Amino acid sequence: MPTRAKRPDVIIIGAGIIGLAVAWRARQRGMRVTVFEREAAGSGTSRVAAGMLAPVSEVEFGEAGARLLELGLRSAALWPAFASELEAASRQSVGLLRTGTLLVARDADEARALERQLAFRGSLGLNATRVRPSQARELEPALAPTIRLALDLPDDHSVDPRLVLAALRSACLNDEVELRERAGVSGVLVSDGGAITGVELHAGERVLAPAVVVAAGTWSGGLDGLPAESRIPVRPVKGQTLRLRDPAGPGLLRRAVRFEEGYLVPRADGSYVLGGTMEERGFDEASTAGAAYELLRDCHELVPGVSELEIAELCVGLRPATPDNLPVIGAGAVEGLVWATGHFRNGILLAPLTAELVTGILTATQPNDRLLAACAPSRFGEALRRPEQPPAPARDQDEAPARRRNGARAAVGL
Ligand SMILES: Cc1cc2nc3c(=O)[nH]c(=O)nc-3n(C[C@H](O)[C@H](O)[C@H](O)COP(=O)(O)OP(=O)(O)OC[C@H]3O[C@@H](n4cnc5c(N)ncnc54)[C@H](O)[C@@H]3O)c2cc1C
Repeated sequence: MPTRAKRPDVIIIGAGIIGLAVAWRARQRGMRVTVFEREAAGSGTSRVAAGMLAPVSEVEFGEAGARLLELGLRSAALWPAFASELEAASRQSVGLLRTGTLLVARDADEARALERQLAFRGSLGLNATRVRPSQARELEPALAPTIRLALDLPDDHSVDPRLVLAALRSACLNDEVELRERAGVSGVLVSDGGAITGVELHAGERVLAPAVVVAAGTWSGGLDGLPAESRIPVRPVKGQTLRLRDPAGPGLLRRAVRFEEGYLVPRADGSYVLGGTMEERGFDEASTAGAAYELLRDCHELVPGVSELEIAELCVGLRPATPDNLPVIGAGAVEGLVWATGHFRNGILLAPLTAELVTGILTATQPNDRLLAACAPSRFGEALRRPEQPPAPARDQDEAPARRRNGARAAVGL
């Protein structure tokens, strides 16, 4: 009997990089999988991401920073095999570029900060080398002669998330994952005994399954039917990026170049992602002239040739952030509920590892190790468990919140 005539073993809510990666892996473990996506697969935050696989660039101080680094390094190590397996399964490239990253300082203050960053990475045993301006320009001739210092991070690479999403979508379909697009889930169904029994769609249809994975990105907090104690605090952090294209083809940069206010990430085809703002504006998805201006102004100081590139797109994504910047991966307070969300700035990097962990949880083969404990949905106390709610019933292109004109950009990051 065809797979989709039977009740699924697991329902996945959301077809971003996380939901699709989990679906693909769960299907490979023999589960019958149905994915519900309220729009088209891959139309959420994942398609806006720059695609840096950059645990060394992203490293932060503190306990949560150490856990995030551990997660990032583990997932970065999985990426090459994940990419080749996915390319073979989908017969599509995922655009993995193993060309490394340069962190660049433009003035004396930034150079001092970079020296501290180098010492910090050295103390963690990470692969980072100090590079004089002349050496940096030998590596990347497009860098401005005025740069003060650079760090070479040869292990931080990149993929093209849009290619990854397309490849995951076809790998899932080839493997008989049931993918239901334009089918938004309004809430989960919970039995009187407190176990998940399925989901209800906005259209009213109910679909039953013993397990539900919530991979709805920044919208994961908005599902109906969950008791208060099982909610998680995911909030949107807006990011704007410019897609640029070099009419002369590839070659302006080989490596991703990161600087204090942003990054410029090359693709193999001569296109670039210039990003990305970090804005606490709720579910506002308006793209702004100010963001485009600031991104280009800051990048131009370090890579003057950016001005010659053509603008293809200005796009906006909402990063799913948590109070400690760690993802939420693990079984929820309701039996049969599994969270796979809150990946904030690192969802592309963490997709292979998340898929492995969630599949392990679904098949009861994943040991609850220290790392998984750091991502536990239960780590948030009562006060934190009230996420900002998306506008009901779901994102609606015609009802975008009014653009706020006077808020300055807070910071820039992945
Ligand atoms: C500007 C920017 C740059 C970034 N750069 C990087 C980077 O370089 N490297 C990196 O690792 N990460 C990066 N990120 C972070 C990364 O994009 C996210 O962490 C990741 O995309 C999250 O994936 P996701 O699948 O959880 O969410 P999404 O891709 O948003 O997928 C969630 C899906 O769920 C669907 N959905 C929501 N609610 C429902 C519902 N009720 N029913 C059905 N479907 C629903 C949505 O439509 C969406 O398709 C960046 C993010 C931004 C914004």
